[in-house]
Amino acid sequence: MCIGCGACAAADPSLTLELDPERLLYRPSHASNAAAAAVCPAVQVDFHGLEEQVFPGQQSTPYGVVDTVMLAQSTDYDRNVKASSGGLIKELLLELLARDDVDGAICLDHVEGLRFEPRLVRDPDEIDMLPGSIYHAVPLDKALQLLREHDGRFVLVAIPCQLEGIYSYIYTHEPLLVSKIHTTIGLLCGWLYSHHALRAICRFKGVDFDQIEEISFRGGGPVGSLQIRTPDGLAKVSRRIDFSYQVAFDRSFNSPRCHLCINHSNFLADIVVGDAWLPSTVKTRTGISLLICRNPDTTELVRRMRKDGRLRTTDVTVDDIKESQKRQVVFGDFAYAYAEYRMEQGLHTPQMVGPNRSAAQLTGRRTVEEFHKDLVRKLELQGQRRYRYLWVRKATVEFPKLAKRYLNWFFVRILRVKSLLGVRKEVSREQVSIFR
Ligand SMILES: Cc1cc2nc3c(=O)[nH]c(=O)nc-3n(C[C@H](O)[C@H](O)[C@H](O)COP(=O)(O)OP(=O)(O)OC[C@H]3O[C@@H](n4cnc5c(N)ncnc54)[C@H](O)[C@@H]3O)c2cc1C
Ligand code: SF4
Ligand code: SF4
Repeated sequence: MCIGCGACAAADPSLTLELDPERLLYRPSHASNAAAAAVCPAVQVDFHGLEEQVFPGQQSTPYGVVDTVMLAQSTDYDRNVKASSGGLIKELLLELLARDDVDGAICLDHVEGLRFEPRLVRDPDEIDMLPGSIYHAVPLDKALQLLREHDGRFVLVAIPCQLEGIYSYIYTHEPLLVSKIHTTIGLLCGWLYSHHALRAICRFKGVDFDQIEEISFRGGGPVGSLQIRTPDGLAKVSRRIDFSYQVAFDRSFNSPRCHLCINHSNFLADIVVGDAWLPSTVKTRTGISLLICRNPDTTELVRRMRKDGRLRTTDVTVDDIKESQKRQVVFGDFAYAYAEYRMEQGLHTPQMVGPNRSAAQLTGRRTVEEFHKDLVRKLELQGQRRYRYLWVRKATVEFPKLAKRYLNWFFVRILRVKSLLGVRKEVSREQVSIFR
């Protein structure tokens, strides 16, 4: 269940993170002690306690602590088009780095091949060189190391489970480190993939996995394509319509903890950035971000950036978080049900109850059971690197499910059937017309 946050390695310095050769996910180098287990989000997360520490005195809701919700986009065309969504993270980083009370930003950067690591960035000129969303497993242990080694106050960019580990470590072991965090920019996160996903797509497309020099998953418009560079050239794969992509990036290739994750909308980040996947934004030419400001400071920051002409923004409501993502992403309908099932089966299950538990409508038992059976079989096949078999399976027994997903997307997002029937409330055309 390791997601590579590095909290255990901070609690027990004898640990390092390494890539598990079979599962192709990061994990600690060896078994450790109770201090390391106590901070590990693959063991448990005390969301209630952490929310109280991070947002003292603020009321939590099923969406976490929320001050404002907006749709937003960078006014800088190149930055917007290169980014994964609206280019918000880079705009925010540039704005914050220009402040006297910020000494740098700790963000994921490319090292080589598939390796990405956190780096301390102080020079604003380096911000636009940072990668977009990286969807394969990466080790984040350096983030805590950088925070400990450097004096000053820093912005930290992280996906939800990374922040869970980092804050769990800080509040139990080194509370003084809190004062070094100026602002956390969180990514909304639906899943990440083991390196098997990349091995599989390379095999399907005839790309030499061992020669990968660079990789990017997004950019060039709202959805973007997967791009893999090797000495033989650049391979581009559509993330929406390529069948092999659908096989290699099937949910069974996710880190196992993602199936149990109830914190996709990043309850612990000061400001959260995701994609605005709304029917009303589907025809825009560049990405639009969904923004959740969890405290008045971040709301004010965004309002100021808008006033200065750096952002286009429009206020929306928490309902649009649900409309933009899926219920199970926001409220954990599947994850809570799957956790119950695993516990009944005596399987290891991280202990996690988030502020969204009261809103969760648990997925039915039969669906969960079938999912688990399927997952176990698929993980076995992935371990044996039998990706072709998974391809054939998707093209045959699983095809109706895939077709249903596309049809659903077409009817809801393109034809806006639910909106026309009044089942969902849409952001008005007028509001969306400010975006490119
Ligand atoms: C694994 C993953 C899953 C996601 N799932 C969803 C989803 O289901 N729904 C949704 O709405 N949005 C999701 N997102 C967020 C979305 O893809 C965009 O990253 C987000 O909207 C920010 O876009 P941007 O244009 O502002 O940032 P960009 O300009 O693209 O900048 C991205 C920034 O994030 C950092 N970063 C990239 N990948 C990682 C990583 N793996 N760990 C830590 N930092 C990283 C980079 O250093 C960079 O600073 C996901 C992101 C990731 C990384
Ligand atoms: S999830 Fe984080 S704390 Fe737990 S084992 Fe993995 S790296 Fe260590
Ligand atoms: S879905 Fe949850 S567990 Fe998976 S990578 Fe995202 S935040 Fe981490």
